[in-house]
Amino acid sequence: MSIVRNVVLGAIGVASGATAIKAAKYVPQKRDLGQPTEEMVDAKRCQEHLSKAISIPTISYPDKEKIDFSQFDRFHVFLEEAFPLIHKTLKKEVVQEASLIYHWKGTRDDLEPIALLAHQDVVPISEGTEQDWEHEPFSGHNDGEFIWGRGALDMKNHLIGVMDAVETLLEEGFQPERDVYLLFGQDEEVVASEDGGAKNIMRTLKERGIHLDCVLDEGGAIIPVNVKGILNNKELVGVGVAEKGYTDFEITVNAKGGHSSQPPVHSGLGELANVIKDLENNQFKAELLPFVKELFSNIGRNCTYPARLVMCNLNLLYPLLKFGMTKIPFTACLVRTTTAVTMAQGSPAANVLPQKSSVTVNFRQMPGTTVKDVENHIRKVCRNKDIEVKVLKAKEASKFSPTDSRAFKIIEEICLQDNKDSIVAPYLVMGGTDACYYEPICENIYRYAPYRVSVSLLRCTHGTNERIPVDTVASGVAFFKRFIRKASAE
Ligand SMILES: [Zn+2]
Repeated sequence: MSIVRNVVLGAIGVASGATAIKAAKYVPQKRDLGQPTEEMVDAKRCQEHLSKAISIPTISYPDKEKIDFSQFDRFHVFLEEAFPLIHKTLKKEVVQEASLIYHWKGTRDDLEPIALLAHQDVVPISEGTEQDWEHEPFSGHNDGEFIWGRGALDMKNHLIGVMDAVETLLEEGFQPERDVYLLFGQDEEVVASEDGGAKNIMRTLKERGIHLDCVLDEGGAIIPVNVKGILNNKELVGVGVAEKGYTDFEITVNAKGGHSSQPPVHSGLGELANVIKDLENNQFKAELLPFVKELFSNIGRNCTYPARLVMCNLNLLYPLLKFGMTKIPFTACLVRTTTAVTMAQGSPAANVLPQKSSVTVNFRQMPGTTVKDVENHIRKVCRNKDIEVKVLKAKEASKFSPTDSRAFKIIEEICLQDNKDSIVAPYLVMGGTDACYYEPICENIYRYAPYRVSVSLLRCTHGTNERIPVDTVASGVAFFKRFIRKASAE
């Protein structure tokens, strides 16, 4: 027995010694990053531009009739006044009603252009919540700490940041080698818009035979992370390399109906309850896609030493990690297509049995899962085979962009130069962006907004008291200046 015990103890000793050595070496790759370029940014001017931009309510609605395009005209006039050099040097085109293409000619025709995206529109203020705002939602009020209002984070900050960066570069006499496109859609907030601004801009470029080297749009942000003893004072830079799909399905159960005084044991709605249960009890299969592994590996390498003893063996932990992630809504959405039963309808009156009972279910597909796959899943998991299944609204998930491309490396380099304690990691964007419409003319599509924002502040996006810390406005402009310098070079 003692021989066996000694062998086992010896093996454990060797294994833990090996792990200790592995953990010691499990650190971020050493890279010679050099110094960041010193970028001049007129912080006060950028803040004033953002406040003014927020004060013009360019609200989009699914019902086009409701959109006040005169506000978009006002916004365009404001851009002309605020950015005179851009309007003198770049070629501007209006596509559809209000979408914008700015074309900055580069010095080299043999290189593919780059594009910076943003959307001009914002979501409306939910009725009855206007009074909840600390400062009027279209005030653009700057209290010295925050700039307040709809669009402060989504995404007039980004649009104005790009414009300020280009205007400043022009003032400094910078000339790009590659052509640079600034592409500003008008209706990103209208989910799965059939014929949206971004689609039309892409078509316009495609018809001209343009293929883009890279696209940068909204998406991830710079989020401070501090997990005592494990991750000390780090910043997580999430660069969206893909986005989930969006589909609303209506599922209907037909029944006889009739007077509610003589009901069957289960009315149509009762039958529908089983459909709902089947959908919720049979979730989509979870999968750890390569980006999740890369995300955890990047985080793991930045952990403190004792934590790295565990993190360096992530490969062994993946099954456990996957299981754990499916248990928390915040992480489950990173590993599977989600199912959210959101609306239901029965008969029109309390004393009438429903003839048609329907439920609306919102699915967010993982890249690789199509709308058709979702329909097949519904039909497979629902025991009731007499259901009617109808797509109300759909947008397929995007493809994945590579993490070894020139553009991704440039983003990574700028962020690490800015703060060596950044953890730059690929990320899956949950909501939709305009970026996916550029897939026909670009393979390197990244979704990243260079703004330092806490998670709690990010929750104000689309909600009450949307606001941006003033400090991060100028640092965002510096990022765009650096990005344009590097990405527009060979
Ligand atoms: Zn947005």
